Amino acid sequence: MAKQKMLQFVSVARDMPEKRAPNLRNKDFGEIYAEFATQKAEEQASRCSQCGVPYCQSHCPLHNNIPDWLNMTATGRLREAYELSQETNTFPEICGRICPQDRLCEGNCVIEQSGHGTVTIGAVEKYITDTAFEEGWVKPIRPAVERDESVGIIGAGPGGLAAADMLRRAGIQVTVYDRYDRGGGLLTYGIPGFKLEKDIVMKRMDQLEDGGVQFRLNCNVGDDITFSAIRGAHDAVLIATGVYKTRDLQGPGSNADGIVRAIDYLTASNRVSFGDTVEEYESGELNASGKNVVVIGGGDTAMDCVRTAVRQGAESVKCLYRRDRANMPGSQREVANAEEEGVEFVWLSAPKGFTGDKVDGVMVQKMRLGQPDATGRQVPELIEGADYVEKADLVVKALGFEPEDLPTLWGEPELEVTRWGTIKADFRTHATSMDGVYAVGDIVRGASLVVWAIRDGREAAQAMLERFEQRSAMVAAE
Ligand SMILES: Cc1cc2nc3c(=O)[nH]c(=O)nc-3n(C[C@H](O)[C@H](O)[C@H](O)COP(=O)(O)OP(=O)(O)OC[C@H]3O[C@@H](n4cnc5c(N)ncnc54)[C@H](O)[C@@H]3O)c2cc1C
Ligand code: SF4
Repeated sequence: MAKQKMLQFVSVARDMPEKRAPNLRNKDFGEIYAEFATQKAEEQASRCSQCGVPYCQSHCPLHNNIPDWLNMTATGRLREAYELSQETNTFPEICGRICPQDRLCEGNCVIEQSGHGTVTIGAVEKYITDTAFEEGWVKPIRPAVERDESVGIIGAGPGGLAAADMLRRAGIQVTVYDRYDRGGGLLTYGIPGFKLEKDIVMKRMDQLEDGGVQFRLNCNVGDDITFSAIRGAHDAVLIATGVYKTRDLQGPGSNADGIVRAIDYLTASNRVSFGDTVEEYESGELNASGKNVVVIGGGDTAMDCVRTAVRQGAESVKCLYRRDRANMPGSQREVANAEEEGVEFVWLSAPKGFTGDKVDGVMVQKMRLGQPDATGRQVPELIEGADYVEKADLVVKALGFEPEDLPTLWGEPELEVTRWGTIKADFRTHATSMDGVYAVGDIVRGASLVVWAIRDGREAAQAMLERFEQRSAMVAAE
């Protein structure tokens, strides 16, 4: 049996290189292999050696039961695979598309470790759930009983939506407040459509709405409604507001026209893909078409900006990062994707200032890596006299995000925050310093990942359900 499995594995592995385009992992089997999609998904799934030490599972933040649903897929039991995968993941089709699998499940696959190329777990996960939607296996949310308790959720990103899903399935009355006109948070307006198609996110929004979750969109908590009003209206409140304050650039000319924030640039692009009319896009302010674009930063947001600029028809796209390739925070897979699309990386380079009232160049300071700091990372140092001007007529700042000061904005000094401004919450229950108030996702962790926000949202929902159960038991005992 083991020999048969190994032979199968070797034959598929040998068969793969020319077929496995560099972007396969995040692409649809259907898109690549058309009518052979099922066969290819089964083939990939059958590459799992069922090693018995599922590092993939332990490195998935949701501890998805990967070996079992791979086995089910390999043997054609797709519906069972779907049932199992959705037990631990609220949005498997989304994670399958956008988790940085090379740092999580796939990066720890023993086949990858042995040098034979990982089982493409994310692509299989996505395939299973896409098929479940097509086949009608994804059932509407219909709670067995309706309960009186209600929860107000601030933020319709993955953290808030994962909690909404779980609470609603348990019969809780759920209202989600969001300042945007569409739900989904960064799934909708941050992550570009070429990584995560927007109809996939909207399908989940429809499912939640159809299941009885109330959405109050265009509602900015702190402006349109107070936090205390929300707290007064519900038995518990979940804060899932994400982090949106952009780290800024200093230096001469940094306020020039043509220097824009990554979140504004990506939001405009995503709005356009919904068919919205976006004035700043029409005017060219947030549109890279025909321009020399320089994106500053080395994380995944920077990668999304450069790849969006390529798709908008930029004349040239460069990414400026002050460290080298090996030390950049973004996923290497994303760098490879960007390079393949024609993006030029300018390593060991930092912006010193900008030329032009309407920006026409970035003054670039060359760097070298010096001694490691306390965290072990080599500190970039200036190389004296090594600077030049890089031509640019659109500069995108993608230097990361910080939390907004919620206690001040909401007039709630009781809401404790950490020294980084993120909300203090219990790591297991996600309870904050305020009774009945919970917090999840980026506003607690700092800029993180969708899969972690989903995990937090599910755990917080579970903690709220336990709280409600305890309260009901106490009332019954009186
Ligand atoms: C450009 C970009 C690309 C990314 N790509 C990936 C990726 O490929 N893979 C991955 O795993 N992660 C990625 N991430 C990170 C991921 O998107 C986040 O970690 C995740 O969305 C956090 O979820 P959340 O629910 O905490 O917050 P968010 O998704 O940010 O949602 C927060 C919601 O709260 C709302 N809100 C905020 N303040 C208020 C208020 N006062 N009143 C009402 N509503 C409010 C916002 O409008 C928003 O809808 C990316 C992030 C960015 C910026
Ligand atoms: S949720 Fe993410 S980390 Fe977990 S199995 Fe899916 S793709 Fe991998």
